[in-house]
Amino acid sequence: MQNKIKQLTEQLNRYAHEYYTLDAPTVPDSEYDQLYRELERLEAEFPQFRLPESPTQRVGGAILSEFASVAHAVPMLSLNNAFSPQNANGVFDHAETLAFNERVCKDLGVSSTAYTIEPKFDGLAISLLYQNGVLVQAATRGDGAVGEDVTENVRTIRNIPLKLHGNRIPTMIEVRGEVLMLKADFIALNERQIAQQQKPFANPRNAAAGSLRQLNSKIAAERKLHFFGYGIARFDGIVAENRPKTHAEELLWLAELGFSLPQSQSCHELVPSPCGRGLGRGQNGGDPLPSPLPKGEGADCRQPESYDWKVCANIAEVLQFYEQMSTKRPHLPYEIDGMVIKVNDLAQQEKLGFVSRAPRWAIAHKFPAEEALTVVEDIDVQV
Ligand code: NAD
Repeated sequence: MQNKIKQLTEQLNRYAHEYYTLDAPTVPDSEYDQLYRELERLEAEFPQFRLPESPTQRVGGAILSEFASVAHAVPMLSLNNAFSPQNANGVFDHAETLAFNERVCKDLGVSSTAYTIEPKFDGLAISLLYQNGVLVQAATRGDGAVGEDVTENVRTIRNIPLKLHGNRIPTMIEVRGEVLMLKADFIALNERQIAQQQKPFANPRNAAAGSLRQLNSKIAAERKLHFFGYGIARFDGIVAENRPKTHAEELLWLAELGFSLPQSQSCHELVPSPCGRGLGRGQNGGDPLPSPLPKGEGADCRQPESYDWKVCANIAEVLQFYEQMSTKRPHLPYEIDGMVIKVNDLAQQEKLGFVSRAPRWAIAHKFPAEEALTVVEDIDVQV
């Protein structure tokens, strides 16, 4: 068994290096996930054989020496996964997500709690630091403790505000989110690559990661990248009553500051909310939205259908939205590999805390694999 654990550790570390450091995976994510789970299971059964370099103990990959390194003031962590296999009739088995909810409620000493559910973007995690409302640094996740300084490339991403908007601008804020390439931009990029007799990219994630980690920011600027905010690591200089108390309030503050939230309908018109409030002017991929604050518990009637994220009063609502998004997934303007479920109340998040490489208050609820790396490999792609 010791040998099996060693072999899986080496194999997964090789795949992780190809994926995170070289942006050039050689196996589909589903295969990586399956081997990772097997290693997790064996390590739980035989903890004495777990190696210190095991991928289950680490976040991400090594950083590239070509970039200056940035030490993260707040570590950039990973997420634990839950899978919901579907039977032949398309019925989901949500046992793992229900078990997550039970753990959360037990630890909080409550019978039920509110969550947000939002897309798990298939891109690259980025941290953006603003001082007095101005973007001063952008860094990749790297190994979670130290990332790469990609400020110059990030400045070329058009939907990242170089200066924050609104009346609630903190003296310092570190925004976390995902850089990705919209599906339409990915298709256009690959058409250009082929026309110029260059190799096409394997998938939007590799195209985004490769573009962001370009040493030449002119090339990064030509590759239309897109950013979605999904969290705030730290901030300063905001009076207590203006601070967000829930994750949903954090997201809406991000929208107020000028960041895009995921909204997938093409809607250049004002979208009236089911509650009658005038809401988001959006466009494909999501625009900054005015603040329709879905405060507190489930916000069923507070968000327009074009939103790809939701505040849910309980886990049953979460699962319903997950299933809706699984149907919507092929029609989204961006790629996702699951939905992220987060405890909405920030005080509850703090109480739950972290395990070694992931928060205990969130889970990545993965969708079944969609990709087939072997097919794209056959046409000799660039990764
Ligand atoms: P992860 O991608 O499963 O989850 C953590 C990341 O999710 C965060 O860093 C963040 O970037 C991202 N994220 C997207 N949307 C988010 C949201 N709304 N809120 C919060 N975070 C959000 O974790 P990981 O450890 O980076 O990667 C593991 C996954 O990468 C594996 O499950 C596998 O699918 C893939 N992988 C594949 C290979 C391969 O060889 N094919 C190798 C290594 C990893």
